[in-house]
Amino acid sequence: MKRVGAHVSAAGGVFNAPLNAQAIGAKAFALFTKNQKQWAAKPLTSQEIDQFHANMQAGAFRPQDVLPHDGYLINLGNPDEDAREKSLQSFIVELNRCHDLGLVLLNFHPGSHLKKISVSDCLARIAESVNRALEATQGVMAVIENTAGQGTNLGHTFEQIAQIIDWVEDKSRIGVCLDTCHAFTSGYDLRTPEAYRETMTQFDHTVGFSFLKGMHLNDSKPDFGSRVDRHESLGKGKLGLAPFRQIMNDPRLDDIPLILETIEPELWPDEIAMLYGMVGENG
Ligand SMILES: [Zn+2]
Ligand SMILES: [Zn+2]
Repeated sequence: MKRVGAHVSAAGGVFNAPLNAQAIGAKAFALFTKNQKQWAAKPLTSQEIDQFHANMQAGAFRPQDVLPHDGYLINLGNPDEDAREKSLQSFIVELNRCHDLGLVLLNFHPGSHLKKISVSDCLARIAESVNRALEATQGVMAVIENTAGQGTNLGHTFEQIAQIIDWVEDKSRIGVCLDTCHAFTSGYDLRTPEAYRETMTQFDHTVGFSFLKGMHLNDSKPDFGSRVDRHESLGKGKLGLAPFRQIMNDPRLDDIPLILETIEPELWPDEIAMLYGMVGENG
């Protein structure tokens, strides 16, 4: 079964996220467990956690249907040691918040070299940060998101993702989230059934489907290979609807969160219904 949802608002409290997801017909969702633009956050109270559990149950969401996203300030590959340490501590806080909520995944952007160190050194730094974070926490898997490769962001090739995984000691707590917009603008085509097959085969050979724990379903404003990260509503961008028809009929993507981060939240109920309507169309 496919589990489609969206990155919903947690305004007013994390416990609102499952309610917001349920309201749009989602079977999965993403959220920020704290303000994504700030370092600090008040610890979750037991009341907030209880309410979150109750709303998870009401919406029939399982822990693995939720793909929390970490904050935007975190750069686990930061070449500056103080800045990396700050990121690492914040990442640990995020992992613990997920654990407090009974969740099992945390999606993160690998990191940026900021033109101060080599790609390889930055990947090693990211892996080292992940190793330290996993050692300091329990129960939650760090899920690397592929990026568009904008600026000095790493994780825009499957080889870079595979390299990080290779250097992570506990392979049971490292996973991958594939973003369709980022894949496309970083140079992995998905627009035809052949291109989709080719990209997914490349992913399987380089990284491996066993590591795939979720996807972000986004159309793309920018062109193929542009390395620019700008999402678009499904069918309104350069990807079109064809890739999503492939995804909805790919059994390798059953039972993992498939999350919309498209730009018009008012369209999410229609986008989710449209995606479910694609099941069986050309599997
Ligand atoms: Zn994404
Ligand atoms: Zn993006």
